[in-house]
Formats: sequence, structure tokens, C-alpha cells
Amino acid sequence: MDHSVKSLLQESDGNIVKAARDWQLQNDIHAKSAEELDAYMHEVLGVMRDSTVKGMRSDLRSVSGLTGGNAYKLMTAVEAGKTAGGSLLGRIAARALGVAEYNAAMGRIVAAPTAGACGILPAVLITLQEEYGYTDDQLVDALYVAGAFGLVIATRASISGAQGGCQAECGSAAAMAAAAIVYLKGGSAEQSADACSFALMNLMGLVCDPVKGLVEVPCVFRNVGAISVALTAADMALSGIVCPIPCDEVIDAMRQVGDAMPSSLRETGEGGCAGCPSMCR
Ligand code: SF4
Repeated sequence: MDHSVKSLLQESDGNIVKAARDWQLQNDIHAKSAEELDAYMHEVLGVMRDSTVKGMRSDLRSVSGLTGGNAYKLMTAVEAGKTAGGSLLGRIAARALGVAEYNAAMGRIVAAPTAGACGILPAVLITLQEEYGYTDDQLVDALYVAGAFGLVIATRASISGAQGGCQAECGSAAAMAAAAIVYLKGGSAEQSADACSFALMNLMGLVCDPVKGLVEVPCVFRNVGAISVALTAADMALSGIVCPIPCDEVIDAMRQVGDAMPSSLRETGEGGCAGCPSMCR
């Protein structure tokens, strides 16, 4: 099967959700029928929603003590009008941080596409539902769209920090979220592809450098940065800006950048943030 954005757009023929759902059904190990798959995806959405709530506890702490409780601080500041980015961005940011902190505290999350990047899609979907009143069925359709782009990235490049750097984890999640946002806001399949491209090109080269080898610092904070990339990528596409580079080529470039990264920047906990003196002490 040709897993390319080009083939996804060809198969979409005005209905990207149907094409994405068909792809998912052909590749999913959890469901044998479309009905089973829909039920599974609703379950996934439920776990995502639950993690956005449980990640917001003020007393949340990871086992290492490195992270936790900061999502609560951010949401409190957003609700008090103390932040500069406005309510929608602030609530998505706080939830992205919360889900990532919940993962670091061994909570149950959805790896979307990985545990390290687990905050981005739930934060975007649940907050857009809160803001615009989308139904759960619409969010599941957006998950299908996100999943189709994730499948192309996983097969043409990588979703592993150890293989391709954090561009493959937080970058992929941002790209998937950007495509999903475009879908929810009524954009075309081509615009979802452009949003995916914009997000990936803005996070291209991002290294994987977990302090002490734990998926905590900088990981939880990168989930926050990635949501702003996803939102702005989607907004560019929705405004009619066309990405000059086809999405498949951006994905291929991401793979090449990942291949060129030294091992110290691919989840070994040596370079980048992991190599900072204060973090080595
Ligand atoms: S820095 Fe590495 S471990 Fe952390 S989220 Fe990014 S890819 Fe995952």
C-alpha cells in the first residue's frame, strides 16, 4: 500500500475522513470492522479527555520529582487573565503540559503518536470542543485525519526520537494536530496537508535530548511549544496560504535530517538539554 500524502489526497475525493478511516481499518490491530474501529476510537478519545483532567492536579509529581503541577499553574494564570497569548492558546497550552506531566507521573495516556508527545492532540481536540462545541463524533473524525498523516510520517520517516530526534515525536504530533484542526475548521484535505507541512517544517531539526534519559525535561515543555506551531500552521493553511513544498517531500526531508543527527541528539541523554551542566549534576 502506498502510504503517501499524495495518495491520501487522491483517495479522499472530497471525503478525507472516509479515506483516513479506510487506511486505519487496513492497518489497525484493534478492530476487525468499521463499527469496532469507531468504538475503539471513541475509547481512545475518552482516555485523552480523562488525561486532560487528571493532568491538571496541583499536587501531581513525577517519580523523579523533575516535573508536575505546572499545568495547574499555567491554567490558573490563563483563567486569571495573566498570560499574553489569550484564552484559547492558553487553555490548549495548559492541557498539553498537563497530559505530558500526567504521563511523566505514570498516568494513563494515549501515545499520539508517542508517549513523549502525548499532550498535543488531546489538548488541541478537547479545547477546540470546549471552544466551538464539536461533538465527540467530529473529534473522532479529526482523529482519523490526524492518524492518516501520522501513518504517512511513520512509514516514510519516523515517529521515534531515538531514530529521528524530537522532530519525529513532537514534530509529528504537531503536524497531525495541525491537519486535524484544519479538518475541524472546515478546511479541505489539501489544506490539512499544507498544515501538516507547515508544522513539520517549523519543527524540523528538533533534537531529542531528555535529561537523565527521562521523558520529562524538555519533553513536557516541548508539548506546549508544539501546540502553538500546530495552531499557527493550521491558521496559515486555513487562510489559503499554500505550502510551496509538497507534504511528502517535507516528510522525506525530515527523515533525512533525522538520519544526519548525531547519536548524542537522539535520545541518548547526552547532548542538548541533557548535556547542560545543571542537568548533569
Ligand atoms: S525530547 Fe526525545 S524523549 Fe523527549 S519528547 Fe522529544 S523525542 Fe521524546
